[in-house]
Amino acid sequence: MVGSLAPKDSTRKPITPRHGSLLREVVELINPLTGFWDDQLVRDTFLEEDANLIPSLPLHGGMSNRAAWHFDAKGAFSVNAYKVFRHDQLRSSRRGGASSSNTDPAHDSLWKKIWETDCAKKSKHILWRLCYNRHPLRVNLKRRGVVLDTRCPICQRFDEDGAHHFLKCKLMENVWCQLGLTRERYILLAQPSARDVIEAVMKMKVELKLKCCFALWLCWADRNRVREGEQCRGPAWIVQGVLVRMAEKDRQKSAVVSVGLSRSHRWEKPAAGHVKVNCDAAFEPGTGIGGWGCVLRDQDGAVVMACRGRIEAFLNPLQGELIACIQGIQAAIEVGVGHVVVESDAVAVVQAVYSSAYDLSAVTDLVAELRSLLSMNFISWVVQQSPRSCNRVAHELASLGSMSDPAMAPVLVPIQAHIMYLIADDSAPSK
Ligand SMILES: [Zn+2]
Repeated sequence: MVGSLAPKDSTRKPITPRHGSLLREVVELINPLTGFWDDQLVRDTFLEEDANLIPSLPLHGGMSNRAAWHFDAKGAFSVNAYKVFRHDQLRSSRRGGASSSNTDPAHDSLWKKIWETDCAKKSKHILWRLCYNRHPLRVNLKRRGVVLDTRCPICQRFDEDGAHHFLKCKLMENVWCQLGLTRERYILLAQPSARDVIEAVMKMKVELKLKCCFALWLCWADRNRVREGEQCRGPAWIVQGVLVRMAEKDRQKSAVVSVGLSRSHRWEKPAAGHVKVNCDAAFEPGTGIGGWGCVLRDQDGAVVMACRGRIEAFLNPLQGELIACIQGIQAAIEVGVGHVVVESDAVAVVQAVYSSAYDLSAVTDLVAELRSLLSMNFISWVVQQSPRSCNRVAHELASLGSMSDPAMAPVLVPIQAHIMYLIADDSAPSK
């Protein structure tokens, strides 16, 4: 039992108040895959003083839980502790609840599946706790004796239990629907227990499983924000968060693929009828002065236009990258490009265009300008990230820009020999 485990003075009692904790057994604090303490969960559960002590305790794998209690402050063994333990045991057996001993093979195999899921550690914790219905949801807290209003803090209409919070609440219904997971939501709603819900998620195809994991995690994060008195960010925020993470996974996957294909590390010509605009920014740290550069090339790799310029008030790398993209897009508008592919080596640029991640940041205006230029001037457009090795020409132009005279026209004619060399090398067939 979590009640007495930390070796502190003579009491072995953690100082963290027991009240309201949903953890019942030490095994729940152990990462089933590594067999060691789950640091994050320990920190989430205990006060700092206990949390610092617990990870130093030795663990004995393979042992079942057994009840043990320590003498009290007067050196006596209290009968109360035993009574509490028996009461818990009887209540658990009446509920038909299996004891979560770490020798249960079904428990281990479910754990393995959760741990092998390709999502953030935080979302794995959420799934783990969900399995045992251990989230401090209001109905769960009431069951633990906390006196509180059990209504959902988001919709204020129904009791907040796991099924309501993660699946039934209007907010979540909206999220599942917008993510195209209505069918999956019904499957999960039909499950008889929290653990069956997680089993069902683990059985889904990789993409659906990931979407569900991210959705459950962000839903919980948003709910905690509401509980702490902040405003609910709502379904659009959760959906956007899930989609950005799914896009990141896709990018990671293609990055892994490109390691095996040296050709993908090189700049690639755009498809027929398209113009590719590579953009980059450069800056001198500490000077506040930077430069932008962009190069437009057609389907044959031939230069349509190359530009560079100076950025007088360089605030941060993302600001520089966005300025470079805007300049590149304006150049494409000037020469009458219909189908444009904008390439930057900064992931943040792609996130800024396709998500709301930077909508309330210092670069809001630049992001808005970039989006409106794209949506109003082209038949088709795409903004993508490429490795730096594919963006060398734009990089050279940007360093040239940082040294240029602000009064000079941005179009570069003629193009310097060392940059021409890079352009030729980009289009050369791979060795
Ligand atoms: Zn609700």
